[in-house]
Amino acid sequence: MIVETKSYSLYDNKILSGEFIMLNDDNKKICLEQIGQSINYCNEILREFCGKEISIKYSIISSMDFNAKCSLLENGIYSIEILSEVFEKTFDILNTLLYEKNSQFYSIISYGEENYNKVKANKYLDIMHAISTRLIIFHELGHIFNGHLDYYQAHKTDKGLSFYMDSSRNNLPPLESQILEMDADAFAATRLVGQLTFPANIDRLNGEILDLIKGEMHTLILLIVSSCLSFSIMGLGRKREPGDYLNSKYLPLRTRQDYYVRCTLNAFRMLNRTLIDKVNAELLDIKFYREVLYNIEQYVNLYFQEALGIPQKQMDSSNNKNELDEKLLSHADYLEEFWTREMRIKLLPFSYFDLAL
Ligand SMILES: [Zn+2]
Repeated sequence: MIVETKSYSLYDNKILSGEFIMLNDDNKKICLEQIGQSINYCNEILREFCGKEISIKYSIISSMDFNAKCSLLENGIYSIEILSEVFEKTFDILNTLLYEKNSQFYSIISYGEENYNKVKANKYLDIMHAISTRLIIFHELGHIFNGHLDYYQAHKTDKGLSFYMDSSRNNLPPLESQILEMDADAFAATRLVGQLTFPANIDRLNGEILDLIKGEMHTLILLIVSSCLSFSIMGLGRKREPGDYLNSKYLPLRTRQDYYVRCTLNAFRMLNRTLIDKVNAELLDIKFYREVLYNIEQYVNLYFQEALGIPQKQMDSSNNKNELDEKLLSHADYLEEFWTREMRIKLLPFSYFDLAL
């Protein structure tokens, strides 16, 4: 199985550039390769599973209402589109956070290094950029490979293209829509853990820069911190009024991130069984991340406050804390049961992979 992620570098001499950089043609090509590689990775696993692969068109576009979108076109071809701003903003935030001044952030993502190393910081930037953007890419691929789009197509009443992410045209019942979003997140978490913790991948990165990755647990931390970045860009800390979660098409973002991290931890335990007894148990406990992820998120909120001038009360990790209330965490558990009891069987005829129990 091919599970290595290729190295890439978006800009030379990145850290300290100090300005928002739009994707130029060369870098757009690199980001397009990210999408192409992610599709190949899923197809590679599918080929092993059942000997076939699916054809997916992909593009990066400069303007759209969503960060990402997947569609089933009328000719039966799938397509995914990612907003160029996703790549740009992720880069800009990492470029700011990995600045030497943020020694605490560097210490977290280097897994405890006390001295800042610019060469490594640049490499962590590339790795984390790939993770953050792949979370969004793999989420869309989850909608395709796990059959969500075909299921949706079979149940929708209007004709034409099916843009799943368009909630105004998403006429699935709210709980079904919510569980499909969670399933797409679980798909992304599993693929990312598979790629990142793969030993040959760790060896390759350490071959490029000595002692860059200090083992599988380090990749887990990189993965969770980078994912928090993606959720923050989607709006974790942006102030919103509590909604009617039972009738919404989407789970509140903090509830969704929490479920995503749980999936990441589960996938990590599954794929790294021999390690589990040897590592600090706290680092595999969701309660730990429920406490520390506020701090990681706050780095991104500060970026929004300082670089984009968004007022603190509009963008802060103290916002929307109700989304991690017991009521919503139990709701996520309920959705998981709903998956096992009803949804999985409904999706199976449409899914390309065997679906998790
Ligand atoms: Zn989605």
